[in-house]
Amino acid sequence: MTMNCGTTTKPNFKLAKTLAYGLLKTNQIQAFPVNPFALIKNEPNVSLISYSDFAKKSQLTLNEVIEFTQSSDGATAYLKEKERYLIFYNDGIKHAGRINYTLAHELAHIKLGHLRKGNTFSLSRNNIYLNDNPIFEAEADTLAAEVLIPSFLVRNLPDDDVTYLSTFFLVSRQCARTALNNVNYVSRRYSSSIFDVPLYLKGQMKPFVMAIEQKKFLTQSYITDQQLIMRR
Ligand SMILES: [Zn+2]
Repeated sequence: MTMNCGTTTKPNFKLAKTLAYGLLKTNQIQAFPVNPFALIKNEPNVSLISYSDFAKKSQLTLNEVIEFTQSSDGATAYLKEKERYLIFYNDGIKHAGRINYTLAHELAHIKLGHLRKGNTFSLSRNNIYLNDNPIFEAEADTLAAEVLIPSFLVRNLPDDDVTYLSTFFLVSRQCARTALNNVNYVSRRYSSSIFDVPLYLKGQMKPFVMAIEQKKFLTQSYITDQQLIMRR
């Protein structure tokens, strides 16, 4: 399950961001939080299975599933002959935001073609035993953060700390941190126009961006409502 990083030497953040916004476009995302379960459902060659379902079907214990996937969060397997992907995720994790980030991160590896590029059958999330390819990981983290917390929204929000972002967008703190790093990285290097909503997303994002500008998301009750919507 180890990987080969080939000739790539630097993460392609621009590609990760473009692919993230492509997902927002094709899925017609108009409001946040994004539900990664829905994103995965719309991918014709990707299937999703929870650790508990997989354990039942294969008569394994949960610990054996974690051992098999080599991750307590999730992993993706690539079935080359069928051009199909299978994402495993640990449904025993209580924090919905952490699951959301894991799913977006695994989908990111697929979109970026990492499993096809590497000499590998699968990639595991937060794997502590294997040395994952740090370039692939940086790209997947960026794509996941941009799809769940697009940079163009962060600047307009009433607060931009890790706690606010992770609650508002229902993601892990790690994801919120990556999103903030992306924003800071970009703002140091480019003009602020980079934070404008991309032209091809403007129409579908307009009501949400307007609601942000009108400060409709300042209350805790809004976030509670969002969490209820997300409950599966
Ligand atoms: Zn990964």
